[in-house]
Amino acid sequence: MLSETFSPLIQLKAVSKFYQTGETRVCALSDVNAELNRGDFVTVMGPSGGGKTTFLNCVGGLDTPDEGEIVLNGRLMSGMDDNALTLLRRKEIGFVFQFFNLLPTLTVWENVELPLLLAQWKQQDDPRIQELLEFVGLETRAQSFPAELSGGQMQRVAIARALVHRPSIILADEPTGNLDSENGAKILDLLNQVSTEFQATIVMATHNPLGASYGNRHFEIRDGRMTEHTSSKQP
Ligand code: ADP
Ligand code: MG
Repeated sequence: MLSETFSPLIQLKAVSKFYQTGETRVCALSDVNAELNRGDFVTVMGPSGGGKTTFLNCVGGLDTPDEGEIVLNGRLMSGMDDNALTLLRRKEIGFVFQFFNLLPTLTVWENVELPLLLAQWKQQDDPRIQELLEFVGLETRAQSFPAELSGGQMQRVAIARALVHRPSIILADEPTGNLDSENGAKILDLLNQVSTEFQATIVMATHNPLGASYGNRHFEIRDGRMTEHTSSKQP
């Protein structure tokens, strides 16, 4: 459909999100407006507690805004119930987390296969799993368990898992936050490769100063307010 092809992949219109803890009301997102396009590699920086995770979770349908609208690939998320959001996530979105979130009782292969099983898309020995393990350089570790891997390797598995259903969007929340700088840099390089080779739109929240040099668009969220910087340098 013409309008879908040329419309932004992700649109946020006046999005706000509040959390009430006892007497205190925190504004985690405040009137956020943004248009993210196919192929964008977006970095989201800013202080801890600024609203980065809330932003990613709202875009990924893990959380819902209190005000405003999010349109994802032409579909308005606001009116969707949990089932519809789950189906949308399984089709369109891959998540990468700071603490990898692999299932410890499943092998590397099974962890990567899991989104296909959940979406009931699995063919016998889907070739995508092997291809992705090669892409992240872990083809020899297919039968290992997460506990047998280093942090950097675990995050590689998580990236393969996030890609296996060919999502249009990868949401990465501090993907290098639990890695040393050398492994962190390798993960950033890998995400850069994902951006070019899979044409996935990447939205990455990061504290990593090196992370800011990646990506073509740079946002900062502070006290729930999001601003876009024209260069990767943050004030
Ligand atoms: P960041 O990822 O930038 O560190 P968050 O999005 O996690 O920021 O948090 C933004 C603000 O919202 C913070 O003040 C945080 O304490 C608050 N917050 C986030 N999630 C919750 C929650 N589930 N309940 C209450 N407050 C929350
Ligand atoms: Mg966070």
